[in-house]
Amino acid sequence: MEPSRNWRLNQQRYSLVGEVCPNCEHKIFPPRDVCPDCGQPAHELFKFSGHGEVYSFTTVYHAPAGHTEDAPYPVAIVKLDEGPLVTAQLTDLGERQVEIGMPVEMVTRKLGSDGERGMLVYGYKFRPQLH
Ligand SMILES: [Zn+2]
Repeated sequence: MEPSRNWRLNQQRYSLVGEVCPNCEHKIFPPRDVCPDCGQPAHELFKFSGHGEVYSFTTVYHAPAGHTEDAPYPVAIVKLDEGPLVTAQLTDLGERQVEIGMPVEMVTRKLGSDGERGMLVYGYKFRPQLH
């Protein structure tokens, strides 16, 4: 794996980094180096605020391997303030019911463990915005 790609993946692990189109300023996530809006190359990194709202959600009852201890858990499509939709697990809900339009913010959490290699897998989840 080339170093720049590796760096980019590390950035994604702890914050929501995508790209911004220099032509139309469309915010891109996940990064794909081409603007989906105007088709121009987009290599400029853009760090998202991590804030958004629940666009739709579902509950996962049959978790994939490595996630079974958490099931059932809610998974949402979050519409970021900057526009893109991302799919992520919701966390820290407490007694709260998930609702469409609920304001949420990104947190970095342990997602599970990779059983074969014994590695912990980290990634982003979203929790209700407290302010
Ligand atoms: Zn564009």
